[in-house]
Order: sequence, then C-alpha cells, then structure tokens
Amino acid sequence: MSRDIGHLLARATASAVRYRTNLDNAPARSLLDYHAMRERFAAPLPEAGSDPATILDELAALAEPGLMPTTGPRFFAWVMGASHPAGVAADLLVSAWGQNAGYQSTSPAAAAIEEVAESWLLDMLDLPRDSGIGFTTGATVANGTCLAAARTGTLRAVGWDPDEDGLFGAPPVHVLIGADAHSSLYSSLQLIGFGRKRVITIETDELGRMRPAALEAAISGLTGPKIVIAQAGQINTGAFDSFADIVAIGKAHDAWVHVDGAFGLWARATPSHKALTSGIELCDSWVTDGHKWLQAPYDCGFAIVRDKNILLGAMSQWASYLPAIAQGDRVPSNYVPELSRRARGIPVYALLRTFGRQGMAELIERHCRLTRLFATRLAAEAGIEVVAEPVINQLIVNFGTGDSAARKAQTEAVIARTVEDGTCYVAGASWRGDWVMRLSVTSVETTEADIDRSADAIIAAWRQVRAETRS
Ligand SMILES: *Cc1c(COP(=O)(O)O)cnc(C)c1O
Repeated sequence: MSRDIGHLLARATASAVRYRTNLDNAPARSLLDYHAMRERFAAPLPEAGSDPATILDELAALAEPGLMPTTGPRFFAWVMGASHPAGVAADLLVSAWGQNAGYQSTSPAAAAIEEVAESWLLDMLDLPRDSGIGFTTGATVANGTCLAAARTGTLRAVGWDPDEDGLFGAPPVHVLIGADAHSSLYSSLQLIGFGRKRVITIETDELGRMRPAALEAAISGLTGPKIVIAQAGQINTGAFDSFADIVAIGKAHDAWVHVDGAFGLWARATPSHKALTSGIELCDSWVTDGHKWLQAPYDCGFAIVRDKNILLGAMSQWASYLPAIAQGDRVPSNYVPELSRRARGIPVYALLRTFGRQGMAELIERHCRLTRLFATRLAAEAGIEVVAEPVINQLIVNFGTGDSAARKAQTEAVIARTVEDGTCYVAGASWRGDWVMRLSVTSVETTEADIDRSADAIIAAWRQVRAETRS
C-alpha cells in the first residue's frame, strides 16, 4: 500500500487533467444519474484496506460518468463558476500543506494570506476598507454569519447581548426582506433563530427589485431593532435593488441593512456595471461567493461586515489553549462559525493575482456581453420570448404558448431536449407564475463560439418541440 505522495498526486493530477481537457468534447451533462451512481458505488465496508493508487483509478473511472461538467464552457444552469485552473492548483497545495487555517499560530502562512486576500477583496469590491471578511463555505453560511452579526449589532444597540444571553426574552427583531430574495436567506434566518416565516415581506417590481415605497410603508410603523435584507443580483433577472433608496430608508429607521450579492456584488468590480450597485457601500454587511464569479474551487464564500468588532462579537470563541492575540492581529476563526477549517484564502489569493483588477473586470464584462448575445440570438433569430432583458449575466426565456400548464410543459420539454442533446446544460425555474429556462453565464471557459453553439442547440430543441406540439 503506497503512501508515496509523489506517485499518488501524479496519478490524481493526470486523471484530473484528462477529465478537464476532455470536457469541451464531452456531452455537457452527466452520463449517469444519481440512482445509477448509487448502484455503482454501493458496497459493504471493506474489512481490509487496499492500495490507494488503485483506489484512485477506480474512483475516477466509477465517478466520472456521474460528474456534472460544471467547470466546462457550456454549463449555464443555476449560477456556477468554473473553478479556474489557478485556483484548483492552489487548492491542491492547500490540501497537501494540510494547514488548519483557524489561528495564526496553527498556520502563520494561511493567516497572513487570508489577511491580504481580505484587503484585496475590499479593494476590488470597493467596500469600506476596514470591514472584516469571514471566509466561509459559500453564500448561505456567509448570509448566516452576517445576519448573526446583524442580530448582535441591532440587539446590543437596545441593551441586549444575544451572544451571552441568547434570544429567549430578547426584544423582537424585525426582519424585512424582498419578496424575490434567494432561498438561502430563509435557511440562514432559520439557523440563527429568527425563523423563516417571522419576516416582513416587501413587495418587488417586475425584475424582482424591492420597491422602496413598500419598504418605507412597512418599516415606518415598527419600533425596536430592525434588519433589512436587500439583494444585488436577483437569481433569475440579475436585477439590483435600489441601494441608495433602501439605505436612506434603513438608516432613517436605525435598521441594519444587509445585502445578498452572491454573484451580483462582482458587478462592482467593473467600470461599466458598478453604477448598478451605487449606494451599496453604505450598507452594514454584504455577502458574495468566491465559487461563483471569482471562479474559486468549491467551497468559498465571503461574509463582509462593516463593523468588524460586531462580527468578532458574534463569532469569537476562547479557550485556554488558544493563544493570546496581540493588538492588531487578525484571528481567522473569529470571523466565521468554525474553528478548524481549510485555508480558503489561499486559492482566493492566487485567483486575485491571476486576474488582477483588470482581468476580473474584463471577465465580468465579457460574461455580461455574452449574456446579451445569447438573448439577441434567441430572440432575433428564432423569436423566442426573452422574459427579462439581461441586467448582468442572467437570462430567462420562455418557449411556451397557450395556457399556463401548456407553456410550462413546452418550456420543460425544450429544457429536457437541450440537456439530452448535450451541447450545453440548462435548467428551469418558476418566475412570475410561469416556467422559464434560466441561462447563467458564469464560467471563465465560455467564449462567444460557445454561446453560438449553445444558442443553435436551444433553437433546434425549441423547433422540434414546437413541431411536435403542432402535430
Ligand atoms: C448561489 C446564491 C446563494 C447561495 O450561495 P451558496 O454559495 O450556494 O451557499 C445565495 N444568494 C444568491 C443570490 C445566490 O445566487
């Protein structure tokens, strides 16, 4: 049984390289489904161990048909980044180095690298430079982390310390959230004890943007602590709340204003789209993902809090064996719910250097341009209904005619046919009572030629479905 790391890594690397370089020619979907994969892997626990080199080979052979080509050039479902090779390679170092990134004493390098990544992110996203960033597994946990800080901040302001005394008996905190917020926020609210239903839902417009007048009307009658949850980048339309208005209303009522910008916050890193976020810098906390537009390998998200002391209050832990902290030192674990964790700052550092400010702006602008191209091709050439003109990199289209059930069936059929064809991968969602195809252009691998090929495939699928519907 080999423990030769050179041999094992070389083998894993060769397999990974082969997988990644074949993606462009392979069907843009998994070949086997989840149930087939369960059957492939089902086996009793081995009594005796076996050679890891053989295990790696078998693992790759068994798993590959069930892998989603998320990192490929024509994967447009949900919102997925592509895991840039620079991030993947840096992440391999993270695994090999085996650092515990929780404390500066457990890894001086990881702590220092995360700190520089924190300041670069604040610079690139142009957020207040003395904000604190927790490096989390993704936007869901980052939303929970920021909302925990919001809970600490708003309750402390009225003389209650939720971190010491919990929520039982605390003054009620009002949570105001746009009607088209992402599902993950409800999961965060549930986790931190606020409850999914105990929110005031604010009406949104046709693009899913919170209506400031509706927020004003809802918040005006409220007394006590308040949290307003706004959004940069609606999951279907890519639209941005009107932050200047929302912040002005929030501040006038002493509310904590939080922003979920899992992908949309990156619009701020471009000269062309930054204006969509204007006023956002005045909010109290922001969330974005590393594993979406930044192309970091999973898992990676950022919980950004303006008043870092409030975040530290909500997240810090202490034990005798944890070293004392010198003034000005940054303890990575005090920004997130975990103590021991992966050094997520390292691939982030490598990617921010790989792109630079310009490269990141170019990537985002290119994706926005490619999304418009997608919309133009589908609409102009084939007359497919673009449900909302793309604001950034999200596009929703509808293929149906007739009543709502017929429309849904046709759009679902086009999605199924497109996936089956395998040129590109797409998925659907419900939007304003209709079923739509969602296209999210988020991969560093995607080129104009990929959009053309994919548009051709979607148009062909639609023509087939239309012909069948008529006959
Ligand atoms: C993806 C996404 C989330 C959830 O992020 P995870 O990284 O999957 O936890 C939250 N909000 C929005 C707008 C998203 O796009």
